[in-house]
Amino acid sequence: MSSFDPARITIPCAHFIHGRQVRDRDDLEVIRPADGAVYAGLPVADAARVDEAVTSARQAFLHADWARRAPRERARIMRRWADLIEVDIDYLAPLEALGSTRPIDQARAWDVPYTAEGIRFFAEFADKHGGEVAATAHDSLGMQIAEPLGVVGAIAPWNFPLSMTCWKVAPALAAGNTVVLKPSEMTPFTAVRLAELAIEAGMPPGVFNVIQGDGATTGDALCRHPDVAKVTFTGSTATGRSIMGACAETGPKPVTLELGGKSPQLVFGDIPDLDRTAATLAAAITGNAGQVCVAGSRLLIERSLLEPMIERLKTHFDGLVPGLTWQEGTRFSPIISETQTNRIESVIGRAIGAGAELVAGGARFETSFGGCFYRPTILRVDKSDNPAVHEEIFGPVLSVQAFDDEEEALALAEHEVYGLAAGVHTADIGRALRAVRRLSAGTVWVNRYGRSNDYILPTGGYKRSGIGRDLGRAAFEANLHHKSVLIDLNI
Ligand code: NAD
Repeated sequence: MSSFDPARITIPCAHFIHGRQVRDRDDLEVIRPADGAVYAGLPVADAARVDEAVTSARQAFLHADWARRAPRERARIMRRWADLIEVDIDYLAPLEALGSTRPIDQARAWDVPYTAEGIRFFAEFADKHGGEVAATAHDSLGMQIAEPLGVVGAIAPWNFPLSMTCWKVAPALAAGNTVVLKPSEMTPFTAVRLAELAIEAGMPPGVFNVIQGDGATTGDALCRHPDVAKVTFTGSTATGRSIMGACAETGPKPVTLELGGKSPQLVFGDIPDLDRTAATLAAAITGNAGQVCVAGSRLLIERSLLEPMIERLKTHFDGLVPGLTWQEGTRFSPIISETQTNRIESVIGRAIGAGAELVAGGARFETSFGGCFYRPTILRVDKSDNPAVHEEIFGPVLSVQAFDDEEEALALAEHEVYGLAAGVHTADIGRALRAVRRLSAGTVWVNRYGRSNDYILPTGGYKRSGIGRDLGRAAFEANLHHKSVLIDLNI
């Protein structure tokens, strides 16, 4: 039985600094997306609190024997941490489901185990990269030694609080850095529990700290702190730009930026199984109610398939009903906030005003329990400058454009701002590979849509969808710098 009683969950309304919870006065109210109730308060760390956390991380980096500890020992602690996360599923999954858009069944089946396994994945890199010996002249020995950067500042979004924390924090820790994480102020609590479990697993105090607060106060202070060596961020393109500015002004310091997307799905007339593709397309825009960076939000479809595909999508959409995130059986997620729902409505209104045809959805669900739930929506669009095609909506809203040939499909797929992901659905391998070459996207999926649970393929953006990569070896290596050493052999 997955359902749980929200009143029985203990909420860790605190920062986590130097191995313990630190409480401050509540500055913000935290709302449960599923019913809109205020369920906790949240402190906003000011510059002094941020400095305390960064100083703790800096001291831990210098003295706590994390960076210098045998890499296999670091890996062992991280693996133990992952084990403890799995053991804690009866607390962590409800805590995640209560305060985010993640239904409890999905939090149990995916978010918690995926987070634990992601930590194991990065732990395995800890002793796999020490640097390299260079091809110098014979009378000398040259090498590059890989070293951690120091304190990594990590800033996470609200859409998958646990797994996004893992993506940001685990590669940095595996490489020997210490971390100060700021979770989203809308989903702040599961990160505190992760930090507690890290201590239980044997991670020294100060190695992984969590500070709570909003972007303008806490996030900005973290980016600007002189002892933060790098910032790794996932969130919107607009915020990424501010963060890069802050890092430039106070560093410069390196950034990894995983930003927004408006990803196309190209469906050609030769697909062998319309129903299978329809199921893939529907899942790609309704999973987490479309609040996914790589949501397949722009359907480009060969004209002959337009009507039959829309009919199938509508059938899938009709099967999705709102539910409380703490009730077993809920599949369809709420929108994170009233503000975000208003944004969705605003873009749809402007899209229709600019000529889009509303084919399905276009309204909120009415529920007996509150919360903001938006009906999966289809907008038929002819012009690519329509807001439904152009703007990241971050909701269950699919724009649909018809094309007549491959060249037109590839031209429509190009987005002026975003290049995060794309999907290509065709039985023609040559066409699929031509599309792979032409599409400006950090990830292209062929005859599927969405990541596997493998962690090994890096993820990130072309264009203004980001800089650098999460996941894969690339994410680990982005947390190291290399010292060049040249030794004269002739003395
Ligand atoms: P957001 O940019 O509003 O906020 C993300 C985080 O940044 C939050 O913790 C916020 O408090 C903090 N922040 C805000 N302003 C800041 C500032 N000036 N300085 C420092 N920190 C600041 O994004 P969101 O609404 O939480 O998440 C949705 C966005 O994230 C979407 O655009 C989505 O595409 C993107 N996203 C991208 C990926 C990816 O891998 N590319 C993954 C998930 C989400």
